[in-house]
Amino acid sequence: MTNPFPEIASSEDLDDAPTGEYIECVGCINLTLVTPGTDLVEWAKEHTRKRPWHTRFRVHHLTNFAVAADGPEPLSPTP
Ligand SMILES: [Zn+2]
Repeated sequence: MTNPFPEIASSEDLDDAPTGEYIECVGCINLTLVTPGTDLVEWAKEHTRKRPWHTRFRVHHLTNFAVAADGPEPLSPTP
């Protein structure tokens, strides 16, 4: 399985990092992961049909990445 948070060294590497999208109804602030093929406007219209007072939406674009730790290793939990 591919690492969902690959370690990168510079901003240029962000282009190769895994991305995704969430759609959010501002009225209920629930985030729903956008799956391939999802029509965001149709999703919003369907949501509004169920809750007519929820008419504003936001799409969150995300990029997962990690960087190397510069400092000392984190302490291991005490037994
Ligand atoms: Zn809603």
